[in-house]
Amino acid sequence: MTKFFDTTAQYKSIEKSIDSAAKRVFKSGIFIGGEEVRKFENEFAKFCDVKYAISVNSGTDALFLSLKALGIGKGDEVITTPFTFIATAGTIANTGAGPVFADIESDTFNINPELVEGLITPRTKAIMPVHLFGQMADMTAIMRIAKKYKLFVIEDAAQAVGARMAGSVGDLGCFSFFPAKNIGAYGDGGMITTNNKKLAEKLRLLKNHGSSPKDKYRNLIVGTNSRLDSLQAAILRVKLKHLRKWNKARAEKAKYYNNALKNIDGLITPAITPNGSHVFHQYTLQLPSTSLRTSRSGQARNALKKHLEKQGIPTMVYYPLPLHLQPALKYLGYKKGDFPEAERAANEVLSLPIYPEITEKEQGKIVETIKNFYAK
Ligand SMILES: *Cc1c(COP(=O)(O)O)cnc(C)c1O
Repeated sequence: MTKFFDTTAQYKSIEKSIDSAAKRVFKSGIFIGGEEVRKFENEFAKFCDVKYAISVNSGTDALFLSLKALGIGKGDEVITTPFTFIATAGTIANTGAGPVFADIESDTFNINPELVEGLITPRTKAIMPVHLFGQMADMTAIMRIAKKYKLFVIEDAAQAVGARMAGSVGDLGCFSFFPAKNIGAYGDGGMITTNNKKLAEKLRLLKNHGSSPKDKYRNLIVGTNSRLDSLQAAILRVKLKHLRKWNKARAEKAKYYNNALKNIDGLITPAITPNGSHVFHQYTLQLPSTSLRTSRSGQARNALKKHLEKQGIPTMVYYPLPLHLQPALKYLGYKKGDFPEAERAANEVLSLPIYPEITEKEQGKIVETIKNFYAK
């Protein structure tokens, strides 16, 4: 049966090298830091074409520590998208700063740069775009605004590792190695990329209790423990070698879906921007409620989801509730109707299974089942 995401298929394909990497760590007796972590950071920096890569405990920590490194906290504002995983705005809120939302573009689901400028106040310190589903936000426009108003830019690149320029355009780039991401650890992990030496040094302090590199028990600033395990680093080093190939396979699987589904009325395949690259962390369809089959919002999407489920095909809704409507962020004072594009997307998106190992047979069945639904 098709899974929404299959971590075991990938393990099988690289079993020997993963096992020997893990064994290497077990035998070394070094489980925190050390050569594996150092090497992985260097390899990852090279992969992203940046000078520095600082490993951390998770993508969430990557975002949180990036904000801290920029000195963002109480009284500050950070502009971001309401259509993303909670961590994006949650980390902003956790610094004491206020997340300020700008609605998304209807086709790419990424933050609409045209709406950002109007939200800038004297308190605004940074913009945090998310490269959602594996496609870069409009960084040209975002960097132009950031430069004009002297704002920092933190890229939430958790879903876009390997997309062209991801994590190398803004001041800081944040990545996640959550198992289901395009490069997943066998546990939690994250990375921050930057070309700024001072920020890199600050982050190295923040992620390790502010301990002086020369004297572990001399703490220069208040930090935390957010380290990537040596074991995860060793595993991720093996996986990084395959990442370009895996991303390419994802793009090919997406192309297969595109070709098979492009002519179905009432179903919109993912928009691909002209100068970006898409690494298809998710393959996300839009089912507008204006289509013939529906009157209520979300009805078309929910009906197709149910139809696929009945045939044993798992799908996911990323994301069913925009962040401005989350109970946790109620205190920000947003209300329904504030971000119509994000709210519409929440009702109309449906992500299909996509990963490098999914077979043409499995995809064929998914496509056929979708076509049956529309033929009814
Ligand atoms: C996965 C993800 C994160 C958080 O990463 P974790 O490693 O799970 O903490 C943040 N932002 C986005 C957009 C994500 O998809």
